[in-house]
Amino acid sequence: MILHIDMDAFFASIEQAVNPNLKGKPLIVGSRGNKNHTVVCAASYEAKRLGIDSGMPTKQAFLICPQAEFIAADSAKYVYTSEAIFEMLYRFDPNPQYVSIDEFQLDLRDSKEYVKICKSIRDWVTKKFNITCSIGIAKNCLLAKLASKLNKPDGVCILDKKNLKPTLKAVNVSKLTGVGKATLEQLNNLGIYTCLDLYNKDQGFLNTHFGKVGFNLFWSLHGLDSFELNPQVNQPKSIGHSYTLNRATNNQELILDWIRLLSEMVSVRLRKNNLSAKTISFWYSKDKDFKGITRQKTFQIPTNNGQDIYERTARIWLKIAPNRPFLRALGVSASLFEEPQKSLLKEIQRREDLAYLMDKINQKYGDWTLLPAQLIKIYNPGKTI
Ligand SMILES: [Mg+2]
Repeated sequence: MILHIDMDAFFASIEQAVNPNLKGKPLIVGSRGNKNHTVVCAASYEAKRLGIDSGMPTKQAFLICPQAEFIAADSAKYVYTSEAIFEMLYRFDPNPQYVSIDEFQLDLRDSKEYVKICKSIRDWVTKKFNITCSIGIAKNCLLAKLASKLNKPDGVCILDKKNLKPTLKAVNVSKLTGVGKATLEQLNNLGIYTCLDLYNKDQGFLNTHFGKVGFNLFWSLHGLDSFELNPQVNQPKSIGHSYTLNRATNNQELILDWIRLLSEMVSVRLRKNNLSAKTISFWYSKDKDFKGITRQKTFQIPTNNGQDIYERTARIWLKIAPNRPFLRALGVSASLFEEPQKSLLKEIQRREDLAYLMDKINQKYGDWTLLPAQLIKIYNPGKTI
């Protein structure tokens, strides 16, 4: 089973949890601080019930509810909460998926404990952050995501063979992920309004009208017994980290130190996802507006080792370096994944074992408890990276 976890009115709920004065009130979280000239970035359930929703101009929202509370979005808070929830999910699945800042997926194919896991997750979220989430459980990602929307807020929905058809009948086809405005219009023109209408069409019909999208929709809706999850769908396509410096620099030593740190961060995540990468990309930008330049190289032997990734990135960088460009921001990322293979060379084996051991220690005692000596110059404890 796939578990799809969707936080309820995430940003608004966090604000209400932090400031109890906002609890139980219609609350608008604005994209910017000016309450009359911005858009609704999130709305509390009290506001949603009145018809206020994200994407709406705040002007319009205040016409609907003049006494609504307003607060400017504080992304640091939301990212912090999201990352903490994501970390917790490793208890149940070695490879949880980030669908978005407030949505996560677990693959519990090998576990029958999903109801129990569901309860543990909901209890933890409420206890730790005083907010709620809704969880959908089904045989594939599309159905699990759909299920997570059906008993919102603070609800659980399990879609199985028994309730699938009656449930699909009650749900508008626009609720399905991947069905945007254009597809919806096309579906309606073909007489398809509910998810069950779509379910009842055969594969050939959907293929003819919607190509690959139709094929995927068909198999996701009918996939309760036969749909084999495509593991690649669940896998990230690339893993990367970037950093913006306080000021532009062309100090080679400093740049290489930063490349080392970012390479190390990438390698930790690769190992966590049990991946090795063949392609390494280096990205840099001369100013902070992030219009950057990317150079990448594919190597014969895949790696998930920080030292290797550093050396490969440094090679890419040193090709650019003779011009000694000034850098304001830089990033390292890895792609073209393979499953890691144990090396036959003793020396490399020892280095790999060391990396996994460091991961274990850092997981237990906190990130960067152990780090390569090169990084001591730029990393000081207490400073967030
Ligand atoms: Mg949500």
